[in-house]
Amino acid sequence: MHSRAPAPGGDRDRSRTAQGRSARAPAAGVLRLQGRAGNQVVARLLDPVRRGPRPFFDEDQLWAPPEERQDPREARIEAEWEKLRPVHRFFAEATLDFYKQVRTALLNAFGAQRDGDEAAVDRVLAYYRSLVRVGFQGFQLWVHPDLAARLEIAERRLGASYPLQSAYGANIRFNTNNPAVLSDHSYGSAIDIDGSTSPNVKNLGPGSERARMIAAITGVDPSRDASGRTIDTDPRSHDALLAEARRLALGSDRLRAAFAGEESLVRAALGIAAQRGAPSGGAEELSPLLFAAAEERGRWRYRPVAPTGATEGRDRHRQALARFVFPTELGDQSRDWPPELVQATVDLLALLARTFRATFTAHGRVAPTARSPSDAQLALHGFLSVAPEVVAALGGSDAGDLRWLGAMSGGTKDYMHFELRERPKLY
Ligand SMILES: [Zn+2]
Repeated sequence: MHSRAPAPGGDRDRSRTAQGRSARAPAAGVLRLQGRAGNQVVARLLDPVRRGPRPFFDEDQLWAPPEERQDPREARIEAEWEKLRPVHRFFAEATLDFYKQVRTALLNAFGAQRDGDEAAVDRVLAYYRSLVRVGFQGFQLWVHPDLAARLEIAERRLGASYPLQSAYGANIRFNTNNPAVLSDHSYGSAIDIDGSTSPNVKNLGPGSERARMIAAITGVDPSRDASGRTIDTDPRSHDALLAEARRLALGSDRLRAAFAGEESLVRAALGIAAQRGAPSGGAEELSPLLFAAAEERGRWRYRPVAPTGATEGRDRHRQALARFVFPTELGDQSRDWPPELVQATVDLLALLARTFRATFTAHGRVAPTARSPSDAQLALHGFLSVAPEVVAALGGSDAGDLRWLGAMSGGTKDYMHFELRERPKLY
């Protein structure tokens, strides 16, 4: 700590100067400015550096150590954080900085707006002291007692036969899908399991390009249930949910299998081509057409008959792929293909090949991620690695009766996430 008592001139100023330079390092840029403009302010800024005394600002103010400048509010927040020591383990990051980020949302959830910060902090302490530790498939999780009871039901149903890769219980943080509010994980009323291979996926609503691509490759549309209705998280029995989760897991496995290697990818593409058209060759002929078409971007329009000079044009590979999958023969009306079908199929096949290419990076194949995976990450790692039995044991209304967000109706599907259908009372 600095002494604030005035020291004999020379020494004091030299030490200040050295600190000022290393901490702010203004000299080069400032000098350049000064040289060009003769700027008076810059000249005065440099005063203490050059001539020693007579700074135009109060250096003592600038160099006072932090605790001497701290305002009372900061001190109060630090004291709160100290008081919350038993709760630190539940914060996504156990740091004062992180506490400052989530503080308002957390204290407001515990009634700070009505009853004040102090009462809210006491409630936070009481609430998190009520959480319990429970074992689930090899993991120990801190959760609300209501959730612990559900996990015990699910565990009894499963035995210990479905070991997980990862599992998270209470974790104070913002909601990934709605960063303005705290996540349900903050209150120990939700768990995430096997996140990296059962990720939180965006843009997977009914009719989305992503859902259509997955459906075309796997025969399973993750945005709809087995009967074709928009999927939802309404309660369903253990057996019904088991069937649903098995269907989705099959889709996920088929997706991974298709993108595992070039051969499997071309085979999947040929399957789609044969289902929709009448390809005039096998995988060997399809492969080069497919990858060439994948490189073409921008709008194009299918032309059933090749005009002269068809080797030109920025859509020539897509036209060639179209004619391979949908060959035409003059006079044979069964070979008149609906142009929308041709165009949509060629676009889909090109997307498949592009997605496959994107699974390769400079460091090998693309790694999985738990949040907002790309098409390539989804394709290579699938979207549901949680065993269907675990989904059903946790989510079946006659089992754990948790809400599984892998079946959300909107664009987001959070396959790792299970939560209490009603959030517990916080205080
Ligand atoms: Zn979650």
